[in-house]
Amino acid sequence: MYVPFHADFLENVRKDSFLNSQLLEALDTSSPSTIRKNPLKTKVHFNGEIQIPWCEHGFLLPERPLFTLDPLFHAGTYYPQEAGSMLLEHVLKSISLNKNAKVLDLCAAPGGKSTLIASFLDGQGMLVSNEVVNQRAKILRENITKWGYSNCMVTNNDPSDFYRLPNFFDCIVIDAPCSGEGMFRKDPNARLEWSNDAVNLCASRQKRIVVDVWPSLAKNGYLIYSTCTFNAHENEENIAWILANFDADLVQIQVPKTFTVGRKNIGMYGIPGISETEGFFIAVLQKKDSESSSLGTRKSSTLRKAKELLDVEKFANLSNSSVYEWNNQLLAIPETFEADFLTIQAHLHIVKWGTSLGDIARKGIIPREDLSLNPRLLVYNEGIELDKHQALQFLHGDTFSLPSTHGFKLMKYNEETLGWIKHIGNRFNNLYPREWRIRMEIR
Ligand code: SAM
Repeated sequence: MYVPFHADFLENVRKDSFLNSQLLEALDTSSPSTIRKNPLKTKVHFNGEIQIPWCEHGFLLPERPLFTLDPLFHAGTYYPQEAGSMLLEHVLKSISLNKNAKVLDLCAAPGGKSTLIASFLDGQGMLVSNEVVNQRAKILRENITKWGYSNCMVTNNDPSDFYRLPNFFDCIVIDAPCSGEGMFRKDPNARLEWSNDAVNLCASRQKRIVVDVWPSLAKNGYLIYSTCTFNAHENEENIAWILANFDADLVQIQVPKTFTVGRKNIGMYGIPGISETEGFFIAVLQKKDSESSSLGTRKSSTLRKAKELLDVEKFANLSNSSVYEWNNQLLAIPETFEADFLTIQAHLHIVKWGTSLGDIARKGIIPREDLSLNPRLLVYNEGIELDKHQALQFLHGDTFSLPSTHGFKLMKYNEETLGWIKHIGNRFNNLYPREWRIRMEIR
């Protein structure tokens, strides 16, 4: 069903000399299909793919595949992402963000920006991906897990909770909840939900989010602010407001050819009709000074260093990891950031941290999906290569006929790991997490 633009939106666009009718025309066409590949995993190839100029692993596809029925999507070999969002890579490179940086992605679900940041850091530094909405934090956990790095945490906190970590992060990404004008082609509801009041509400919420999280940005740290909307209130005006109220500088980023410099030279836009984007605004600020304050009190920890590794070394290479016991699991965190991981663990609500190696059971370890999807930790090589239908059956949670064998086996498709089964001779138990299983009918 075609949903017309709100009259006030049309009026705003007409009054705004920065935007033009090209935008309205483009918003009434269908969205381009774009994906970003995971450099850590198999190089997938789509027929007719065209490289996105501002993102090394970003590609425009000639049509939108049914991602749910592609096992390589579930293996985390690529992530469908709007091309404007991939501009974050250009920004991270432009500011030469140190690969050892501690990065907070504050509004992170479902995980598009976080997976991009994880690829940029490439296992160095640390990434805290936070999502305030509990259900969305679960999807974020799934996507981060499939992306396959150990240096990531997923937290489920309100931005105001981050006051407990003053001057902690070298970079904070706020991909702010917004009025979503850039969603107008993909999602008819975005048009229905839009109003000038919603824009104003979003603009004040965005300011509050910045106020809440600003103390946890370290001196000289970067605040990367983005939205998927076109109006100045949620974009340039908010950046001007931050500059007026905090000790920060605007960082100018070189703008790729098809992108548009923001109003008053603040930030940049991906505008449909000009580039293959849905609509995206991004700006960067650098904190000049920081207030002296120390870490808040720690809650008592439910965590302890693993006393014994059981048989986990048969599954995982732990040479650069510290192993902890948490919620009856063994998990590996990168040694270099052990202290930082522990600090965050003590101050925030953790959904995931490091790589969960397995559940502690009476007879040893029951390996977990996190490990199977982390190619740098996984050393176990007893796997079974599946055809596409079998791979989909596995991801659907089914059991089917496989050659008789015993023990834990990795399920693989195109040599890429999907997850675990435990084979018990004449049948197997499918260990693929219930909440990740494909729900649609598989052909
Ligand atoms: N960065 C994500 C990505 O690239 O996949 C998209 C983030 S989306 C634009 C904004 C996120 O902010 C949503 O997941 C939403 O649940 C979350 N959010 C909503 N209200 C919030 C608030 N008051 N503070 C922080 N985050 C909020």
